[in-house]
Amino acid sequence: MASPFTEEHQQFRRTVRLFCERELAPHAVEWERDESFPDWVFRRAGELGIFGAHYPKEVGGAGGDYWFSVAKSEELPRCGMAGVSMALLVQSDMATPVIHDLGSAEQKEEFLAPALRGEKIAALAVSEPAAGSDVASIETVARRDGDDYVIDGAKTFITNGTRAGFLVLLAKTDPRAGAHGCTFFLVPGDTKGLRVGKKLRKIGNHSSDTAELHFEEMRVPARYRLGEENMGFKYLMQNFQSERIIACTSAVSNGALMIEAAIAYARDRKTFGKPLIEREYWQHKLVDLTAKLEAARALSYRGAEGYNDDKYLARRDVSRETVKLISLAKIFVGDVVSEVADQCLQLHGGWGYVEEFPIARAWRDQRLFRIGGGATETLRYYVAKLMGF
Ligand SMILES: Cc1cc2nc3c(=O)[nH]c(=O)nc-3n(C[C@H](O)[C@H](O)[C@H](O)COP(=O)(O)OP(=O)(O)OC[C@H]3O[C@@H](n4cnc5c(N)ncnc54)[C@H](O)[C@@H]3O)c2cc1C
Repeated sequence: MASPFTEEHQQFRRTVRLFCERELAPHAVEWERDESFPDWVFRRAGELGIFGAHYPKEVGGAGGDYWFSVAKSEELPRCGMAGVSMALLVQSDMATPVIHDLGSAEQKEEFLAPALRGEKIAALAVSEPAAGSDVASIETVARRDGDDYVIDGAKTFITNGTRAGFLVLLAKTDPRAGAHGCTFFLVPGDTKGLRVGKKLRKIGNHSSDTAELHFEEMRVPARYRLGEENMGFKYLMQNFQSERIIACTSAVSNGALMIEAAIAYARDRKTFGKPLIEREYWQHKLVDLTAKLEAARALSYRGAEGYNDDKYLARRDVSRETVKLISLAKIFVGDVVSEVADQCLQLHGGWGYVEEFPIARAWRDQRLFRIGGGATETLRYYVAKLMGF
């Protein structure tokens, strides 16, 4: 596969890299400790065109293709905090694509354009206390009442949830219809009846906020319904594809940074009279990890290529073949990056277990990848179905 990146993509990549290295990374220790980062990060990312590079100009984007988003996802890990990186990817590739695909001109102007400028923080509210992988069994209900919907229920694990300017929320409009009874809504953060519950304390991604949300008699005007009633599950399955592919390319890039750090450490650290890098054991281990990571990158790029061809060139829904590739990529990347993280920490010995070394945070943070946005086992179950088993 020839490189999909043109000079324009590479220029954009440099913008994201500089933003991460100069403006974000110096705050890593503080933001991880505080379990939060300031809102200006969203505004600045918007100002630099980071959220909108792959969105059409009519909605406030730069009109680029999907490879701009891939380039961004590969550079964000350089900020050194998977929490910040994830929060920004939720804004650009997880919460907002649904608005782009389904939103009316008014909805795009009110929600999508300010989100791309980084002025409104977006959150995707799908998971619930009793329904994560099995989205069709969500229990939040939206009942039509005149010109409004009245929504009751709860969500959990919602990234950007404590400070979201708006939610892209999935609820049941026909509770008896399972997957065929779900509908998306736009919910402004100050809507009466929306209550932010506990902020969850996590083992990793400390800098991002992850919230429980409660909805009690929450009234949302019908004009904030996204797309058709009861079609939300189908839309969500489409939306998952951008979320998963971008998570893959970001995780692979994170893995490459871990290997880079491990090599630097191995050059420096001596045991039994010589640097670790001169031990054949570690040389071969690092070679094998690099090979696996490159294979993971190649598979992720196949998924990204399918996504770009379907959505950007052919302007159609993501095909089953692309969905399969993206799901396979997420399964494979998860296993590879976990192994990379574990071995790179091992190479650091006891120092890998100490907070001062970035590998400690990277090892913790990467663990989410095999769970969030489609757990590895759920994806295997899903691909098996796609393969007709
Ligand atoms: C830090 C963080 C941020 C998140 N951000 C968001 C967000 O912004 N918005 C949002 O909506 N959600 C978010 N999530 C939720 C995330 O997407 C879910 O945690 C994930 O989908 C798994 O759902 P669950 O936790 O309910 O696990 P469950 O669905 O209960 O599954 C538990 C485990 O069971 C196994 N399993 C599940 N199904 C099968 C199967 N068919 N066959 C075999 N094994 C299976 C898997 O190993 C899985 O890990 C976030 C989660 C975390 C931890």
